[in-house]
Amino acid sequence: MQNDIDHVLISSERIQTRVREMAEQIVAYYDRQNPELTLVPVLSGSIIFLADLIRHLPIKMKLALVHVSTYPGRTTTPGESKTLLEPTGDIRGRHVLLIDDILDSGRTIRRVQAMLHALAPASVRTAVLLRKPSKAPTDVPVEFVGFDVEDLFVVGYGLDYDDFYRNYPHIGVLRREVTA
Ligand code: 5GP
Ligand code: MG
Repeated sequence: MQNDIDHVLISSERIQTRVREMAEQIVAYYDRQNPELTLVPVLSGSIIFLADLIRHLPIKMKLALVHVSTYPGRTTTPGESKTLLEPTGDIRGRHVLLIDDILDSGRTIRRVQAMLHALAPASVRTAVLLRKPSKAPTDVPVEFVGFDVEDLFVVGYGLDYDDFYRNYPHIGVLRREVTA
């Protein structure tokens, strides 16, 4: 697996530090209302981020998973989101925090936000680990961002290529030959 990585873009140490900071921002943001949350991770890319983040969030919460699959085995052309399954838990009347790995074209998050709003939540906020600012649209509200990254295809820390590399602990860029 290591041999397929061209270089590390963000080390696991930097990720851990930033995830803790994001958790502090989220706690501070919700502090006054002190609500119960429903966290909605978008599967599968956000699972590692979710697992690390929630252990730094001393907030009473439920999880409701949503599943979206995009870009099957591809690194560049954004395909239409393939499937979008209803959240596995309660959304109605709840303060929802949507969690995703990366905001690229914004198509995925736009669709999930629309689906959540249709289920009558009390509020919807969004946290992403990565954002590609060169492409991210302005009409998709994202309140919490871990890192802004260049428009490169990255893997690791939950992010995949053809469902591989999710267990790579850093965020890295694949060697060209791997995707050629
Ligand atoms: P969007 O809908 O914003 O264009 O893309 C979001 C989804 O595409 C992400 O949840 C992720 O699954 C995939 N994606 C976008 N950019 C990358 C990338 O650089 N690396 C990986 N592994 N997936 C990406
Ligand atoms: Mg994804």
